[in-house]
Amino acid sequence: MKYDFIIAGAGCAGLSLLYKILQEPTLQKKSILMIDKDTKKNNDRTWCFWEKNAGSFESIVHAKWNTLEFLSTDFEKKLALGSYTYKMIQGIDFYNFVLNYAKKFTNVTFLQENIVAITSDAFSATVKTTDNLHTAKTVFNSTNLFNPKMNEENSLLQHFKGWVIKTAQPKFNPEIGRLMDFRVSQEHGATFVYVLPTSTTEALVEYTLFTPTILEKEMYASALKKYIKEELKIKDYSISHEEFGVIPMSLAKFEKNPKKNIINIGTSGGFTKASSGYTFQFIQKDVTEIVENLKLGKNLNLAPSYKDKLYNWYDRTLIDVLLSKKLTGRAVFSRIFKKNSPEKILAFLGNESTLLEDIAIMKTLPLKPFLVSGIKQLQNKN
Ligand SMILES: Cc1cc2nc3c(=O)[nH]c(=O)nc-3n(C[C@H](O)[C@H](O)[C@H](O)COP(=O)(O)OP(=O)(O)OC[C@H]3O[C@@H](n4cnc5c(N)ncnc54)[C@H](O)[C@@H]3O)c2cc1C
Repeated sequence: MKYDFIIAGAGCAGLSLLYKILQEPTLQKKSILMIDKDTKKNNDRTWCFWEKNAGSFESIVHAKWNTLEFLSTDFEKKLALGSYTYKMIQGIDFYNFVLNYAKKFTNVTFLQENIVAITSDAFSATVKTTDNLHTAKTVFNSTNLFNPKMNEENSLLQHFKGWVIKTAQPKFNPEIGRLMDFRVSQEHGATFVYVLPTSTTEALVEYTLFTPTILEKEMYASALKKYIKEELKIKDYSISHEEFGVIPMSLAKFEKNPKKNIINIGTSGGFTKASSGYTFQFIQKDVTEIVENLKLGKNLNLAPSYKDKLYNWYDRTLIDVLLSKKLTGRAVFSRIFKKNSPEKILAFLGNESTLLEDIAIMKTLPLKPFLVSGIKQLQNKN
């Protein structure tokens, strides 16, 4: 059978796209095959993101904050987010929500298979799994089959370990999320901890680094233990959830349209913001645009807009500054958070700012290193 769409990978991007397609009356009867090697039954990650209004997944938002805080060695600041809200969604809630919704549609098929290749010709694309071949008019891919080569020269890794900890006594203020605490040791490179309390007795505490290589496994756990004891002053707690992740922060180019009739989505489509690792909100914008284009019968491989290119250049410039060690991550983020309004920072980091606002933020950073890296990245065609 030839499907209308195959969605290769039922993670954040694949399921977000499926949900959007099924909500669109002109597309919801299309035949769709969804393939993933995993069952999607594990709470394997927690997504945080910010937005101004209620989004598509508002009903499964696990916690939200209108105030965040930033801490560094020389200053601390409470950030009132203005029109933005910072939100958290648990992976398992998201998987269950979309998979339950999709059960109503007999035109959607799920297969648990391992994808080994995706090829295409002028009229269709074919997904080869370990045991089968599946064909569709269009394949949306979020596996890493077309990812560019990443190495220590062109990429930093954002790697982190998080624990949800529970305490018997109230220890947290659920009104305030700790976005970045840069007071921790920077011996491996840019390192911070975030603490997102979901009640007075429960918080996600995540130890995060932006460095070229990951650490030994035990180092994350000992850094978390140290932070909980010394900074949060908590001695007795239990760990109810654990997660580990590695996200690329790369100068390498992720193709949106690697071959005819194949569209990359999610991290594989370049929707992980290189300078921060945030992906969830950029995936939502991308799948909304895809569904709009499908509805209008437009080409799915639209060239990146001027704004897309501009933000991409900003991201590449920051990665270049960090990779070339011209400035530390702590110095850059501290300058940004010290001197700009939180709402403007979130707009900038969320690719929603105006050019004038971008310039205002850039003026708070040291000119020379950013100019040198910016020019280098303008010339970098890779
Ligand atoms: C622990 C963790 C926490 C994160 N927290 C945040 C956050 O707070 N905010 C944020 O914006 N981003 C966050 N991210 C980054 C990003 O949002 C996630 O990685 C997100 O899941 C990316 O979506 P995706 O669809 O591209 O990839 P995934 O969600 O990883 O989906 C890819 C899917 O493809 C399947 N797959 C891969 N290869 C194959 C194959 N060969 N055959 C069949 N199936 C295959 C996988 O099983 C998976 O289901 C986090 C990432 C991790 C790992």
